[in-house]
Amino acid sequence: MPHLTKSKFTSGLTCSRQLWFKVHDPIPFDDPPPGSPMDVGNIVGHGAHTLFPGGVEVTERPWEHTEAVTTTATLMADADVPAIFEAAFDFDDIRIRVDVLERLGGGQWGIREVKSSGSLKDYHLWDAAVQLHVAEGAGVNVGSVELVHVDTSYVHAGGEPDWSQLLMAEDITTDCRNMLADVADEIERQHATLSETAPPDVHPTRSRCQSGFGCDYWDRCTAEMPDDWVQLLPSIRGNSIEELADQGIHAMSDLPPGYRLNGTQQRVVDATLSAEPYVSPDIGNALHNFGPPAYYLDFETMRPMIPVYPDTSPAEEIVFQWSLHHLSADGEVSHREFLGPINEDPRRALAEALIGAIADDGAPILAYNASFEARVLRELADRFDNLAEPLRAIERRLLDLLVPVKSHTYFPGYKGSFSLKTVGPTLAPTYSYDDLEGVAVGTDASAAYWHMVYTGEDDPEIREALLAYCGLDTDILMAVHQKLIELS
Ligand code: SF4
Repeated sequence: MPHLTKSKFTSGLTCSRQLWFKVHDPIPFDDPPPGSPMDVGNIVGHGAHTLFPGGVEVTERPWEHTEAVTTTATLMADADVPAIFEAAFDFDDIRIRVDVLERLGGGQWGIREVKSSGSLKDYHLWDAAVQLHVAEGAGVNVGSVELVHVDTSYVHAGGEPDWSQLLMAEDITTDCRNMLADVADEIERQHATLSETAPPDVHPTRSRCQSGFGCDYWDRCTAEMPDDWVQLLPSIRGNSIEELADQGIHAMSDLPPGYRLNGTQQRVVDATLSAEPYVSPDIGNALHNFGPPAYYLDFETMRPMIPVYPDTSPAEEIVFQWSLHHLSADGEVSHREFLGPINEDPRRALAEALIGAIADDGAPILAYNASFEARVLRELADRFDNLAEPLRAIERRLLDLLVPVKSHTYFPGYKGSFSLKTVGPTLAPTYSYDDLEGVAVGTDASAAYWHMVYTGEDDPEIREALLAYCGLDTDILMAVHQKLIELS
């Protein structure tokens, strides 16, 4: 019987097919990129060690589990060790490493599960409850279970994080004890899944497979789906896809006559099956106020769970970069950009530079999904009183290019998505995000910038990658606008 681990057990809760793949046909594991959620989780895990002075780490690697169990037993027998980090146990064909096993006295131990999130989530309880099941099964007298997570009310004073203030403990002993029967049932179910010789049939849907942390097996599970897969219908619910799949229907071309679709979905079906783009006759009117002349604006922000600037809190949104293209009425293009320094909060300098870059000429400022840019501008205006008026004036000039794209066009190349990453290269095929190195999506940008600030290591290559990424976004935005004008 292949053994389970804590992370495989959590995968199995999400999807039994994912669990089967992780055990029988895994994708090789890469080190998490610097600044990624997993990397931040590791940093928080180490930060939590400082809350247990004198604690000793079990350093054996995951594949040295038997040795790790032996080391754990030795440390538990040593009364001078107040806490054990990465304590290893084995029971019921499940191997676990406990983030912190704290000696409580009276022969009792505390399980401390460390998470970099700002609150208790359902899956944290499952995660901790399976550890309770295994530790008690292995003979540990567990007195309490706590989740140690980030306290979002913490205000950073600058310098190294004060881990004793940044992290808080929440007692979840009763919740975990109440879940033990369900945990035992779930383990039995997961072992049954693992004893199968083929992966279980689970219909992939975006709502199941791409929410939360996503699933690495998406490409594998969707490789055989037709080009007109019903998942490409905007806003289709996951259970509708599953109901259709249960009837053997995966393709739009197989949808039963009279199947209920909204207007956008019908447009997607028509354009996909005919391979002909849809362009509404009203698109010219929809673009009436959009210029040129026009500006094209994009921000990059981060919400670090480990704050890096004084007077900021975990998960506070910090804007650190913008790109601004300008297209004049006679077709002349210019570009300005800003990327914050790593040694100070970039927001005031960023706001001042933006105000200086936009002429007071009333030209529209186009963004894609502009509610994000509007929110960032409002937050800057609220923060800096003496910049509030020009920032609010910029916000008033924002127009959202997503609106005419979504309401007045559909090209088969959108593949069911109206994101700039698919719409841009479809309408402006000379542009591509594929050639970007290191930073290719917004989450990469946030992670890369945060990591530079946290480590204090300014990296010219990362700066270049950040500038290239954000600059491409506004360049593509401008190209999409021009294409829409051409279509109109
Ligand atoms: S892509 Fe979806 S169906 Fe496939 S293994 Fe992952 S979660 Fe399960």
